[in-house]
Amino acid sequence: MIAISACLLGFKCRYDGKSKKNLALMKLLESEKILPICPEKLGGLTTPRAPSSLLGGDGFDVLDGKAKVINSYGDDNTKAFIEGAYAALDMIREQKIKRCFLKDKSPSCGVGCRTQFSQETNEYKNSKYLTGVTAALLIRKGYI
Ligand code: SF4
Repeated sequence: MIAISACLLGFKCRYDGKSKKNLALMKLLESEKILPICPEKLGGLTTPRAPSSLLGGDGFDVLDGKAKVINSYGDDNTKAFIEGAYAALDMIREQKIKRCFLKDKSPSCGVGCRTQFSQETNEYKNSKYLTGVTAALLIRKGYI
């Protein structure tokens, strides 16, 4: 069984009320058992909602109490992001999930600092996106 960010499977759970369908991952629905997870919804946030950003560090820092998650109105969503991360972890453990595919560039699901090839500069460089809160927790627990 595989856990996948719900928005990649067509669930309209993003902050803007839209999905981010990934056809290759949606094709897996035909052959694999899939657990859709949306940590922001699991943390109690509504859809649509104001977009949130990491402030003062990455998802690891948020888990350690050294950074926050703030939405575009300045509201502190740190608690919801941490609760959503642990709720996702509980579901993944219950279902004995071995693999996870998470949406990139997200303050919850994003797995940051990947090395990418730039055709502009013809060299490899690190992505500017930080690891999100749920991604950080799942990395620490060995699921990513
Ligand atoms: S929290 Fe994850 S699954 Fe939910 S909308 Fe954001 S990227 Fe998609």
